[in-house]
Amino acid sequence: MSFEKIPGNEKIKNQLRSYLRLNKIPNSMIFSGPAGCLKYEFARTFVKALNCLNLEDDSCDCCQNCLQIDTENFIDLISIKPDGQQYRKYQIDQLNDLARMMPSISKFRVFILQQAHQMNESAANAFLKTLEEPSLRNIFILLSENVAMIIPTIRSRCYHLRFTTLPYQILYQNFLLAKYNPQEARILALYQIYGENFSLLNFKQLVTLRKNAISFLNAIFSRQSLDDRLLELYDRSANREQFLEYFMALVQMIIFFLRDILIMKINGANSNTIINFDLSDDLLKIAKNVNISWVLSKISSLNQILEYCQKNMNLRRLMLQFITSLISLGAEDGTYFFS
Ligand SMILES: [Zn+2]
Repeated sequence: MSFEKIPGNEKIKNQLRSYLRLNKIPNSMIFSGPAGCLKYEFARTFVKALNCLNLEDDSCDCCQNCLQIDTENFIDLISIKPDGQQYRKYQIDQLNDLARMMPSISKFRVFILQQAHQMNESAANAFLKTLEEPSLRNIFILLSENVAMIIPTIRSRCYHLRFTTLPYQILYQNFLLAKYNPQEARILALYQIYGENFSLLNFKQLVTLRKNAISFLNAIFSRQSLDDRLLELYDRSANREQFLEYFMALVQMIIFFLRDILIMKINGANSNTIINFDLSDDLLKIAKNVNISWVLSKISSLNQILEYCQKNMNLRRLMLQFITSLISLGAEDGTYFFS
């Protein structure tokens, strides 16, 4: 999308375009703001405009450079995201090595770091060294939903552009324009606004994750074994890290569904604040069999599981904890499905 077409955050748009016109481009910038404010789209459009063969301060979206950037085949644009939960030192070492070399074809090499706040201390310190000796030929764009978690020494070396989120209606229209059907567009718009934990997933990954999460929830209520499902997920993962990453996303998605179940219990099944409206038949079936304190206790134990994951708890114990916390009753009056 060009700056002309990209919606919202007009002030930032004008600022970026004036950097391009005046040829005064900061070496490092932070784009911060909630999920759904199109930070990545802005960063990509900026790189296109920087390299566009037809326009000076916008992208034409049809020249060779614009097209290559759109399909992520542009050699001087390096877009990276955390390997698992965090950036690892090896990723920053690779970035630093590249930053020491001249760009291949462009005037600048641009690095876009998604979820830049998810950097452990050694990675952040390694990155800081490169920021401290900026080459005029590198531009770093750090995207973050939680800028307070970026270490102050990195923050102070970057121009900080604060984005605000877009209204639902605009997001929805954008997804329709991007050829999603109305139901998909509605889900994507709602996930952009409320589902920041899932912002790194593409639509296909999001669909699969939701399918898995709802089948886990359904399995509890049809008394199917959760062990087998977990084992199957484990077998499909390349290694422990990959499994853990997926497992955490799954737990976050189950919490997301429980939030909707809670809303159904409080506001009724047709509340317009239900996010996963397309799954409301499944969610309603569960809602009818549980009470509010059950839902709250599940949300709290699942959040605890996420904490255990961060603390790198033994995998077997983690799974056991997950299974027992999901199938246990967890409320005093216990007049629901398992009683
Ligand atoms: Zn172009």
